[in-house]
Amino acid sequence: MMQFPLTLVHVLERAEKLFGRSEIVSRLPDRGLHRYSYAEFCRRARALGGALQSLGLERGDRVATLMWNHYAHLEAYFAVPCAGGVLHTLNLRLHPDDIAYIVGHARDRFLIVDDVLLPLFEKFRATVGIEKVIVVPLSGSPVPGQHEDYEALIARSERLSMPAIHEEDAAGMCYTSGTTGRPKGVIYSHRSIVLHSLATATVDYLGLGNGDAVCPVVPMFHVNAWGIPFTAVMMGAKLVFPGPHLDAPSLLDLFQGERMTLTAGVPTIWMAILQALESEPGRWRLERGLRMVVGGAAAAESMIRAFDKFGLRVIHGWGMTETSPVGTVNFVKRETVALSGDERYAARAKQGIPLPFFEVRAMSAGDEAPWDGSTMGELQVRGPWVAAAYHELAAEADKWTADGWFRTGDIVTIDPCGYVKITDRMKDLVKSGGEWISSVDLEGALAGHPKVAEAAVVAVPHTHWGERPLAIVVLENGESATAEELRDFLAPRFAKFWLPENFVFVGEIPRTSTGKVMKAKLREQFKDWKKLE
Ligand code: AMP
Repeated sequence: MMQFPLTLVHVLERAEKLFGRSEIVSRLPDRGLHRYSYAEFCRRARALGGALQSLGLERGDRVATLMWNHYAHLEAYFAVPCAGGVLHTLNLRLHPDDIAYIVGHARDRFLIVDDVLLPLFEKFRATVGIEKVIVVPLSGSPVPGQHEDYEALIARSERLSMPAIHEEDAAGMCYTSGTTGRPKGVIYSHRSIVLHSLATATVDYLGLGNGDAVCPVVPMFHVNAWGIPFTAVMMGAKLVFPGPHLDAPSLLDLFQGERMTLTAGVPTIWMAILQALESEPGRWRLERGLRMVVGGAAAAESMIRAFDKFGLRVIHGWGMTETSPVGTVNFVKRETVALSGDERYAARAKQGIPLPFFEVRAMSAGDEAPWDGSTMGELQVRGPWVAAAYHELAAEADKWTADGWFRTGDIVTIDPCGYVKITDRMKDLVKSGGEWISSVDLEGALAGHPKVAEAAVVAVPHTHWGERPLAIVVLENGESATAEELRDFLAPRFAKFWLPENFVFVGEIPRTSTGKVMKAKLREQFKDWKKLE
């Protein structure tokens, strides 16, 4: 007997049949709110899929998106995979050269782009071979003649006739930055997305249900927004999108107005929200018990405590692009119910308990570390939504062990109850506001400055961004240089948020006996560094 395929086609058809009256709300660039029903969303997603097919989309073709979080992006999330294509969400915060590389490496044939993001596309258009550019007229300005108008396409499209999709077919993809070298692509199959949705929806984890009003603040270009758009549509929840307005007052207005019960984002967003709530107490009335899923970087215990005072619940989770992304989520296990207040908070600040079908182990010097809450080791994971390889990149095969575990590069302890806690990172990267900065790339560029003898870049803690890069520089004998001079030198090559605010000039950079920069020592030395603007 043929097995029933686990595909997004089922999720879309289910939404059509069962949840036609659920609502989708999107904030537009002009701050107005766009509202429509699931029935309308499903009709338009089918029309978009049909339009892509009539433009020549073939099975396995990549369709890139350069879009904020809104209804049209959700339409693409379903239209592309259900038409047999692969949804490739592009990170609009990257340097245009990196976006161009990613588009080229993925061999994207089509691009769907917000009209307000066309200026960004123009920066790399000439270097990529996109065949059709489809522009979403979000701000109402006319679509340039050489491009397709998204609305016109939908209006004249035939309804999508779904091709036979196999559950192992690629449905989505996303690129992640590495310590060295170029960004790496990860492919998600229909099956992996569906299983990830089923596991994350369960009560102990995100507990995402039909009665929820869900706002993915996490950009839809990050790991297909942590799977939430797929999971929410599977359950028929109300979906609310913030568009490009990610400042705290705009988000809080939206949470209040749409009676949000579940949202998700990186700590930087929640720190800004907390500050807004604290500086204007009483301005916003939020749903009691609103759950805020925090991931992508560590949620500080102090933040969890502070939100509790407002009756808002932080749910801490851990994941990676390579793990679709959710791997662990923090919930109160039976045996921890009796913990005292302080112990409870310390437990809630851990990254959490693995999802069903997601296996974890901490490896130290070739052995599995005991689950004692103190022995550290590298977190290795496996499961049906963990990538088995990078897209067309054989060079990184050593990221997987011979028996199929993925090496995450995170250093963790696992306690006897199974809570994973991240204690350090092997990856030589800085995570600022949820986005990666490669210290190795910055060091390489700095070393190219004629006055610089050597340079090291390390992450230093920052209250708003989580981490920021600090450049530690040794100048050539007899030379002098200013921070501005070095920053200006880096500026043309990197996205603005990559540029270090601060440069420290030192006589020597500590190295190991084998000549490697002692990054851990530098991180320790500068951990209380405060001089950031
Ligand atoms: P990305 O692939 O960009 O999603 O980054 C994944 C990496 O982000 C992980 O390997 C961790 O280093 C980091 N990360 C994600 N979630 C957390 C968390 N809750 N706490 C600490 N680090 C995290």
